[in-house]
Amino acid sequence: MQVYVEKPKCTGCSHCFDVCPVAVFQMHERSSADVNSDTAPDEWKWKGSHLPEVTAKWANVQDGHHHFADKYEGGSGGISVAIQGSACILCQACLIECEGECIVITDDSNNVYRSIYK
Ligand code: SF4
Ligand code: SF4
Repeated sequence: MQVYVEKPKCTGCSHCFDVCPVAVFQMHERSSADVNSDTAPDEWKWKGSHLPEVTAKWANVQDGHHHFADKYEGGSGGISVAIQGSACILCQACLIECEGECIVITDDSNNVYRSIYK
C-alpha cells in the first residue's frame, strides 16, 4: 500500500491524523526538513504555497481547526505527511474526512483511491 498527500491542497485540518487507526500520518510544520519525506510525486510536494482554490474554500471556515496555520499545535495546523503508508489497512476513514481532498492511496494491485470529502 502506498499513501501520499497532495500537499498544496492540505489545509492542515489534521482529520487524517485523528482518524487513522494505524498512524500513517504525522502533522509537520511546513518549514520542517522532512515535510516532503513521504512518497508524493514531485508535482504534489510542498513547495511553499497552497492552491488558490483550496485557500479560498477553507480560509474562513470556522470549524475549530486552524486551517493553513504554519505550525501543528495539538489540534491542527501544519501539513500532513504520510510517514508509513505501508501500514495502511484501507479502512478509508481518512478518505472521507480529508477536507482538502488530497489523500491518494494505491493498493498492491495498483487500484487508486482518492479522498472525497463527505
Ligand atoms: S485508509 Fe489507510 S491511511 Fe487512511 S485512515 Fe485508513 S488505514 Fe489510515
Ligand atoms: S485530512 Fe487532508 S487536508 Fe486535512 S490534514 Fe489530512 S491531508 Fe491535510
